[in-house]
Amino acid sequence: MFQNFDGRTVVVTGGSIGIGKGIARVFAKSGANVAIIARNKETAEQCAEEISSFPGQAKAFPADVTDLPSMERAMENIAEQFGGIDVVCANAGIFPSATLEEMTDEKWDHVLNTNTKGTYHTVKASLPYLKKADAGRIIITSSITGPVTGYAGWSHYAASKAAQLGFMRSAALELADQGITVNAVLPGNILTEGLEGMGEDYLQAMANAIPTKKLGTVEDIGYAALFLASKEAGFITGQTIIVDGGQTLPE
Ligand code: NDP
Repeated sequence: MFQNFDGRTVVVTGGSIGIGKGIARVFAKSGANVAIIARNKETAEQCAEEISSFPGQAKAFPADVTDLPSMERAMENIAEQFGGIDVVCANAGIFPSATLEEMTDEKWDHVLNTNTKGTYHTVKASLPYLKKADAGRIIITSSITGPVTGYAGWSHYAASKAAQLGFMRSAALELADQGITVNAVLPGNILTEGLEGMGEDYLQAMANAIPTKKLGTVEDIGYAALFLASKEAGFITGQTIIVDGGQTLPE
């Protein structure tokens, strides 16, 4: 069954909070050993501690996705401690807003360096280990913003998320004959810690814009990632799964 990840090692970048934490929880519940990457050591360790009651082991590996050597060190440590790497969820991302008038090269580069280059660094650093895995899997957290829709005030973010898909499709073709699949999950509006403080009315208005009339949960993204990471999904590569409650379906 695809829910059984006993003995497999899953790396989740940005796994300390939000969607990444949901992904980490779902894999740990399914028996995987989970390596949580984030810059803040304390929150990453806190998350590992929280999910340590699940069947799989969880451990924090502080690193910065914008820094390739730091990611290479983290992947080496993870492979050493867990005996390899089978699944990589490139999920870390940032989404500060800036209108075109407010935009500067620094703001643009900060977002593209984290979201797009960070995804490339994550894949590059994990590849030596994924190649040795029985069924290597890469799952990228993109977004509906960019690949499907635009979002005024977030042009750099939309560009970074659309670029992830060009990278994903090319990597999928490059790695297909090595048994490694590369796919992306495109979340819609997901209830994370960051949104929780926005107030009941704001969240209700967001939910009302979604056909299912509710925001997605972080686990909704985790289960889509879990399916793509399963050995049974080995014939699926270079694809996207939109998880948005029907928000972007044309009428
Ligand atoms: P959060 O802000 O809740 O979490 C972001 C995570 O990424 C944290 O663990 C953070 O840890 C980590 N992170 C940020 N920068 C870096 C870095 N340079 N190196 C390593 N880790 C980093 O974000 P969400 O959970 O909301 O979003 C996660 C992903 O989902 C993103 O890629 C986002 O674009 C995508 N997404 C989110 C949606 C939503 O509704 N929330 C909708 C669509 C897509 P730390 O700061 O300690 O490094």
